[in-house]
Amino acid sequence: MPSHRLALCKNHYIEWFERRVESTIKEFKMFSKNDRVLVAVSGGKDSLALWHALVKLGYQADGLYIDLGIGEYSKKSKEIVKSFAQRIEKNLHIVELEREIATIPTIKEVDSRPACSFCGTIKRYYMNKMARDLKYDVIATGHNLDDETAVLFSNVLSWNIDYLKRQYPVLREEKGFVKKVKPLCKMTEKENALYAFFNRIEYIEDECPFAEGSTSISYKKLLASLEEQSPGSKIRFYLEFLRKVHPILDKDYQKSLSVCKVCGEPSSSEICPICRLKAKVGV
Ligand code: SF4
Ligand code: ZN
Repeated sequence: MPSHRLALCKNHYIEWFERRVESTIKEFKMFSKNDRVLVAVSGGKDSLALWHALVKLGYQADGLYIDLGIGEYSKKSKEIVKSFAQRIEKNLHIVELEREIATIPTIKEVDSRPACSFCGTIKRYYMNKMARDLKYDVIATGHNLDDETAVLFSNVLSWNIDYLKRQYPVLREEKGFVKKVKPLCKMTEKENALYAFFNRIEYIEDECPFAEGSTSISYKKLLASLEEQSPGSKIRFYLEFLRKVHPILDKDYQKSLSVCKVCGEPSSSEICPICRLKAKVGV
């Protein structure tokens, strides 16, 4: 691992990975062993590696899977998540989008935006609603260092201050929002894949068919080539932002929030984006 100047065997790698996850949880005061954690799992390597590591570290962690109804991709990933939950003997909650609104491909027929933009909003809405209804203290997602640096890079390119303010491994609990954390924010995609491989975790390797051509993929490629030339630049870019820039932005952080007139969920507009989508789809 050139960026850490380390070479480890399998067992020491697993130990190193789990220690690093635990120290990230403590450093950012994400949660403790007394908290009930809801891990948002997609069937991919990151979220399953996270769930595995949290359970092994002794945290109370259950899973939440949102079935987006994206053909074979969703079918396969749901089966993988279900059998993983059985293997680790933890509860898995499932939201069927088809029952709540409609599947992502059906919504795509009536919404001209890229699928990822409304899909992301839908996932955040149900994660929050489920965690609150089921009385979990915190939601954990498998976002990794590559995801975080790609988003950071894109927000810096356009100096999107509002997004930069919200880019932090912890989003505090407020006004109907359950606390959200990213315990894998310091681990790369490759490091998560290696942890999954060493622990014989089966995960979905196919990409979601809607992911193709997204700008975050091209930023990831760009940052990967930078990392190859200068190992450690990705983690430096991210951690120095958190250390030097985020505290300045966070000073005047204020969220104007009320509740949606239709469903009562927290929303920055009178009617939340999910209720607007429901109206569009006709449910
Ligand atoms: Fe949803 Fe886009 Fe992710 Fe597919 S790639 S699951 S559409 S956010
Ligand atoms: Zn609503």
